[in-house]
Amino acid sequence: MNAHRPLIAVYPGSFDPITKGHEDIARRCLRIADQVLVAVAHTATQKKTSLFDVEERVAMNAAVFEDEPRISCVAFSGLLVDFCKETGAHLVIRGLRAVSDFEYEFQMAQMNQELWGDLETVFLTPDVNYSFLSASLVREVARLGGDVSAFVSPLVRDRLDEVFRSDG
Ligand code: ADP
Repeated sequence: MNAHRPLIAVYPGSFDPITKGHEDIARRCLRIADQVLVAVAHTATQKKTSLFDVEERVAMNAAVFEDEPRISCVAFSGLLVDFCKETGAHLVIRGLRAVSDFEYEFQMAQMNQELWGDLETVFLTPDVNYSFLSASLVREVARLGGDVSAFVSPLVRDRLDEVFRSDG
């Protein structure tokens, strides 16, 4: 740990909802950063319609990381680089699952580097058990009545059950 300036990392995403893959990446990030801000983006960077609103996603993230004082859960709007400047973060964490993530992540990282040269993007790979997992797949399985207990925390699973049961 840097005694003079804590290293703050932002882990941005849509977290709709948070999965065990997201959780794994955020906890791994604590090995390289002093503090991690798990930040739900108000404006999706990719075309996505959301299942949970931003406030609920932040609340679920906060519940998942309740045990970890070095992880804070927030939302942000606008450019990621502006949010990083505001919070004093010089590190962006992204998860890399497979080759399919690579091109988009590479473009984003280079664009952010152009926008603010003091920002570094670090890619972490999840535990092999989560390398196929995505929030969209979890939503799809839950929507069709499948058991998602292995992929999300119990509180997220319960919310998914409620949402899709009330959907009829
Ligand atoms: P998703 O792609 O599941 O909708 P987000 O848009 O919330 O997730 O992604 C936020 C970040 O977390 C991205 O860098 C994404 O690649 C990463 N991520 C999502 N799921 C996983 C996982 N299972 N393992 C590793 N990284 C992941």
